[in-house]
Amino acid sequence: LNLQDSDLRKLSELGQGNGGSVVKVEHVPTGTIMAKKIVLIDAKQAVRKQILRELEILHSCRSAYIVSSYGAFMAEPNICICMEFMDKGSFDGIYKTIGPIDIEVVAKVALAVLEGLTYLYDVHRIIHRDIKPSNILCNSQGEIKLCDFGVSGELINSIANTFVGTSVYMSPERIQGAEYSIKSDVWSLGISLIELALGRFPFSESDPYDPEDDYSEEDDSSDPNPNPTNPDLGKTATHRDSLLPPSSGKTARRISKRRSKGVSLHGGGLTMSIIELMHHIVREPAPRLSSGKGPGAGAAFPTEAEEFVDACLLKDPEERKPPGGLLKFSWMDTARMSIFDIKEWASTF
Ligand code: ATP
Ligand code: MG
Repeated sequence: LNLQDSDLRKLSELGQGNGGSVVKVEHVPTGTIMAKKIVLIDAKQAVRKQILRELEILHSCRSAYIVSSYGAFMAEPNICICMEFMDKGSFDGIYKTIGPIDIEVVAKVALAVLEGLTYLYDVHRIIHRDIKPSNILCNSQGEIKLCDFGVSGELINSIANTFVGTSVYMSPERIQGAEYSIKSDVWSLGISLIELALGRFPFSESDPYDPEDDYSEEDDSSDPNPNPTNPDLGKTATHRDSLLPPSSGKTARRISKRRSKGVSLHGGGLTMSIIELMHHIVREPAPRLSSGKGPGAGAAFPTEAEEFVDACLLKDPEERKPPGGLLKFSWMDTARMSIFDIKEWASTF
């Protein structure tokens, strides 16, 4: 398919992100409906050609868990990437429309993401680098697929927005400057799964203002360094109806005090600045699936789901398993055998 912009008729806007925007288009000569991603890049001609060459890999990506690509072209000063249109949109849009996602669906999302990551890495040696609900798409066939993976290093370098790549789904080791590894994607998956199951971003707090908190203290040296793998830590957090672990020191208290002053990152009431949040991710125990539910607040999540998410969110990347290891968890067997009908589910919204 020889794509050119003049053959594409715009049908509607699908959304906007940090790096660009996505529109629904019709490829008039063939009548094909596509999603066209428009990325504003800041790069010289030679680099633009290089980006297009790197994007060629997209053509050879063939997996049931990866959004397929029709091709990419330059439309100065933008680069356009045309991909399979997923008519139910992304999982962030879905939970913002219908509320917390059924844990059986979340299990299928986890399975699809792991299969997609495994395919990208085993076949193309690609690390996704941007796993989050807005990059996990669904269609009315009940298929769940990944998009927006890091095929082109030059494209990542050229996107004309300094905040690209800085994400609240970033693993602790990435925040501390380590190279991207496939295990960083596993962390981002863990955060995304909690977000879908709770219907809100895991690091948002809902506890009320506490005038007893001492805001003026700046000394962090008394912080205990709690073991993030201690299974009891999350339970004490339930009284806050929050995934923020219990304040183990002044850092956490400062974060909670500054909520009202911070930058709003997510519409859903999260007002930590990005720096504060990253500090929190590095220092504090990882969020847990269970800690979002207070005593008696509805049915608990299945133990195998909690074990899986805990394994994704091991803070030490040495301990955290790669996608292939997580595919062996019992929750993934449950997801494979589940008769839950995603197609039927997707027809309800
Ligand atoms: P960021 O730029 O930070 O990665 P994002 O993923 O939300 O954020 P975009 O990648 O520009 O931003 O996507 C914007 C929205 O377009 C997505 O949230 C999704 O709902 C929609 N979208 C993207 N690709 C497709 C597609 N292939 N089919 C249908 N909708 C899509
Ligand atoms: Mg995206």
